[in-house]
Amino acid sequence: MALLSRYLADALDRLERHHQTRSLVATRMSGPARLERQGRDLIDFSSNDYLGLARHPLLAERSAEWAIRHGSGSGASRLVTGTSAEHLAIEARIARFKGTEAALLFPTGWQLNAAVLAALLKAAPGTLLFTDRLVHGSLHAGAAGHRQIRFRHNDLDHLEELLAGHASEDGPRLIVTESVFSMDGDRADVERLVRIAQAHDAFLYLDEAHATGVLGPDGAGLSRGITGKVDLVMGTFSKAMGCFGAYVAGSRLLIDYLVNACGGFIFSTAPPPAMLGAIDAALDLVPGMEEERLRLADQAVYLRDRLAEHGIDTGASSTQIIPVIVGEAEQALALSAALAGAGLLASAIRPPTVPQGTSRLRIVLRASHTREDVDQLLDALVRQLR
Ligand SMILES: *Cc1c(COP(=O)(O)O)cnc(C)c1O
Repeated sequence: MALLSRYLADALDRLERHHQTRSLVATRMSGPARLERQGRDLIDFSSNDYLGLARHPLLAERSAEWAIRHGSGSGASRLVTGTSAEHLAIEARIARFKGTEAALLFPTGWQLNAAVLAALLKAAPGTLLFTDRLVHGSLHAGAAGHRQIRFRHNDLDHLEELLAGHASEDGPRLIVTESVFSMDGDRADVERLVRIAQAHDAFLYLDEAHATGVLGPDGAGLSRGITGKVDLVMGTFSKAMGCFGAYVAGSRLLIDYLVNACGGFIFSTAPPPAMLGAIDAALDLVPGMEEERLRLADQAVYLRDRLAEHGIDTGASSTQIIPVIVGEAEQALALSAALAGAGLLASAIRPPTVPQGTSRLRIVLRASHTREDVDQLLDALVRQLR
């Protein structure tokens, strides 16, 4: 065996000892809030398809239509020949949706964060970078090699303390956080973040991956009401928007800089017509889905309240993402397996996705869950955790 293979095998063994190995399981969406896995039909409490758009006919049809009309590939990167009139039209739509001057598409949210944050830090290498302790892995990729000054999760007093503590150092300030946290389902106080950023002359970078489509006016995210005050907002089309891809929205200056300096944008092939068609359809539908958003919020209040009555801790969740924190990876896996036995799919989330000792079930509600679906989950959880 080649030497590298031995290192790879050792690394996998170490993960196995900590109950952290993962593997791929074929799963198919089989109906509203249902998944088929290993021949079984399960109620979906895991996917991020909050509004059910991933199987909405309008998205699939427009995606197919645009692929048939414009082809399966875009041919080149955006700055060569890959920019079509549709790319520009969709970016203008996104800017209107978010209430910003301009927007730019990326293939995925992971790639966007990794590339855009790196590009910002490249503009000013001496930047003091303040990050929430629980920011998404993609943001860590973007900050690779740069010193992070990390504030306690969603603790804006601590952020202020750290900003004040570093006040005498030179260099621009950059605050990076999320509006809805992916593994905890809690929200950042975006208005206060804006005030803090202004008081400390800091640039504010906000990840709205889990708010886009679900929260704010028209489902346009928590930053929508305070347009122009968050310097950079990113979000994805891969969750509530039901398709694929990601956007960054902000000033014209910011977007012009990224077009000229962001390697992950410049050296990557332009998103293909099928992806653009689906995004276009999602942007048609999402502003009008207020009823679905209300139903989702209502289900979340119902589930959190019932869990609290049974003494089950859901942390600071105030959204459709509801963690049931159990502690060790092994316990989270066992609970997830027990629920699967009862026909319910709620994934166990373990380190390194979440900090040690906070392994959990990440329960995700969807607008299409019925009250019976939620009650079934509740009964199973209460039975298992008693
Ligand atoms: C999912 C997610 C991303 C990545 O988006 P993809 O389009 O799935 O690559 C980025 N940030 C957060 C907070 C996320 O939850």
